Amino acid sequence: MEREVIDRFRGCLYGQAIGDALGLGTEFMTDEDIAWKYPHGLQHYKQIYQDRHRKRWKIGDWTDDTDMMLCIADAVIEDKGVNFYNIARHFKDWVNGIPMGIGENTYKVLTIGDYVEHPFEVSHKVWEMSKYQSAANGGLMRTSVVGLFPKEVRTCAEYICQLTHYDPRCVGSCVIVSELIHALVYGIEPPTRSQMKDIAKQYDVEICDYIDNAWAEPHVKPLVDYDNWGYTLSTLSVALWSYWHASSFEEGLLAVVNAGGDADTNAAVACAILGAKYGFHAIPKEYVDGLLYKESLDKTIDSLLDICIK
Ligand SMILES: [Mg+2]
Repeated sequence: MEREVIDRFRGCLYGQAIGDALGLGTEFMTDEDIAWKYPHGLQHYKQIYQDRHRKRWKIGDWTDDTDMMLCIADAVIEDKGVNFYNIARHFKDWVNGIPMGIGENTYKVLTIGDYVEHPFEVSHKVWEMSKYQSAANGGLMRTSVVGLFPKEVRTCAEYICQLTHYDPRCVGSCVIVSELIHALVYGIEPPTRSQMKDIAKQYDVEICDYIDNAWAEPHVKPLVDYDNWGYTLSTLSVALWSYWHASSFEEGLLAVVNAGGDADTNAAVACAILGAKYGFHAIPKEYVDGLLYKESLDKTIDSLLDICIK
């Protein structure tokens, strides 16, 4: 039992990093772009097209999605528990470094002067300034690790999302994905579609349509939003689609990556779920071996395991 839990735990965070690293290859691309750059599809890190956007990263590196997930992980390891203000401090330290690929909303929030002292107030203010419209996937992209916490998953998912993204659509997305990952990893009955919708209604009913679409749609492409970049509910539906429709880690990874759009984020969230569902052992070796910083990822996972699974 315990070995299986550890395998799924590791699979979740590797899944996140792999989806992010391969998804960079089609980030911001439409169908036509993908057909032109990858006539036979993108399957391997080494194929990643080196244009101006992509060549800022080395092949096999992950982007901001996994960087921010690791900010949460590092803070939890430091505190041997969850201190939201220390997570905020880690976000701030990251933004003070070279935050490659950072989203607009996250950048706005993290660069306001007194963010470290008052992260929730600052985050709320930025949402208010957007006239309560901004609902980007910056909270969702990093929430996988919250699903690995042994308890208080829902509360932690809510607060950690609100550290940068206050909109209830963002918060609801994070809660659904974190709760799903938690159930998959720890071998608890995962929430059904109707249970997910019950959770969704507590945040914003609009989330329900995206859950239903993910369930009903046979192909992933119609779920990808090519106009409203980085919309949290589009990423949520892509991730749930992969959970319900992909019969292996690899099948889900390649379907989501080759759909383009906000592909690194979509694949990071989708593959964190798939890694939690199928386990680390089910991830093809080339995706693990080709990941640039896997030694450091392993160290983080081992430290987290010590804290979460005693
Ligand atoms: Mg990214």
